[in-house]
Amino acid sequence: MAIFDPNFMTLYQRYPVYLTNSLSGKKEKFETLTPGFVGMYVCGPTVYNYVHLGNTRTFLSFDVIFRYLRFIGYKVRYVRNITDVGHLENDADEGEDKIGKKARLEQLEPMEIVKRYTEDFHTVMRQFNILPPSIEPSATGHIVEQINITKKLLDLGLAYEVNGSVYFDVKKYNQSHHYGILSGRNIEDLIESGRTLDSQDEKRDKIDFALWKKASPQHIMRWPSPWGEGFPGWHIECTVMSTKYLGETFDIHGGGMDLKFPHHECEIAQATSANGKSPVHYWIHSNMLTVNGQKMSKSLGNSFLPSELFSGNHKLLEKGYSPMTVRFFMLQSHYSSTLDFSNEALNAAEKGFKKLSNALSSVKKMRLTKNSSNPELEKSLLHQIDRCFINMSDDFNTAKTLAVLFEMASQINTLAGAKEIILSENVFEKFKSTYLSMMEDVLGLTEESGGNHELLNGTVNVLINLRKKVRADKNFALSDRIRDDLKAIGIQLKDGKDGEMSYEIES
Ligand SMILES: [Zn+2]
Repeated sequence: MAIFDPNFMTLYQRYPVYLTNSLSGKKEKFETLTPGFVGMYVCGPTVYNYVHLGNTRTFLSFDVIFRYLRFIGYKVRYVRNITDVGHLENDADEGEDKIGKKARLEQLEPMEIVKRYTEDFHTVMRQFNILPPSIEPSATGHIVEQINITKKLLDLGLAYEVNGSVYFDVKKYNQSHHYGILSGRNIEDLIESGRTLDSQDEKRDKIDFALWKKASPQHIMRWPSPWGEGFPGWHIECTVMSTKYLGETFDIHGGGMDLKFPHHECEIAQATSANGKSPVHYWIHSNMLTVNGQKMSKSLGNSFLPSELFSGNHKLLEKGYSPMTVRFFMLQSHYSSTLDFSNEALNAAEKGFKKLSNALSSVKKMRLTKNSSNPELEKSLLHQIDRCFINMSDDFNTAKTLAVLFEMASQINTLAGAKEIILSENVFEKFKSTYLSMMEDVLGLTEESGGNHELLNGTVNVLINLRKKVRADKNFALSDRIRDDLKAIGIQLKDGKDGEMSYEIES
């Protein structure tokens, strides 16, 4: 029979979470809609290309939030979508669908594109020890729901149809709500700035956005709708998938800072109109990655793929770094700060992670010599334990938590080097389990066999260089053989621009 303990507190009651809500711009106490339960939605990848490191940082930030909330006792439903249709090349509802364009250029079916890059995304997530979400819905699996909400917005008079496309009427919405509430903009400024409508534009106003787009004859991805054949707009998919699985109002919506406007602003407008209530209590945005102080971008040539970072096959990298080193490196800064990549910073991270990882392996082997009180040392250990939770509950401050873990690692080394360990068993076990679980369960930092990574990396690079040579000699049969044989043992080579090659281990 379970015994009811009136003094029992969950970890989240003991260490209540405070988080910075982008909606208010303030740090707020986290109160869930349903006690003990958290609904969290994060905008997932558009699967038309390999996932780059900047995206990875976003998913890693929310992975730690997911892990910590779970660890302190919440039951979390985490929904992260796959955008497999509707994301156009620019934010003005123009240009081609990103997946459709890639399919056309590579002469593949859109589903082949989606499958290839979804698999790559999952592989990269596993390499970084990023947990899968509870539900991973895709936009193409929710076309019916997207059509239904578009109909509803038309019925409410907040959308209009032109030539088979349907647009959201931002000005009309703004008469009773504040469009720009999340990004701190106002509609007058938005109307004034930006591009002007051109004659072919169907929108009543340039700030309006598409809920449904008519498919041109050459458009590959298309579905029947009350307005003819077409495809959904990008913003509507997230409104549909978040509210379908989490309810009309839910606790947390996250994403990269670059999605705040217009994507998240549009989500708020759509959901508030359709359901008569604001969809999200806490908006969380993670910040960007920079490289040597510059924004990471494909056009500047300073963006790299995770596989290039692991293998060191990029002109900006001195060598390869293991996934756990990179994970540790990213956690050294708060999710809301920019994070700058440089070889020096990565080298320092490699040393730092090694120290924590060594302590992890020591702590697993550590045994108590004698169960006896040692008040002074115990006070210090309990204080360290406490600070881990206080820092994590303070807006998921991984940087400060890592600083405490370094103190704990030094303590572990001292204890491991001592002739005997005399402590009360209770405190000793608590100290051990806190270090272990903060590292592995909360921060997702696990031990890795460094030697193996370097050895494997070196070996694959020998083969990559050999393959470059045989390609230069136009021996394509041998080049293909090297690629196929590696593929057969689970190592996928990726041919980049300018003859560069990197690899990925399929798991
Ligand atoms: Zn989204």
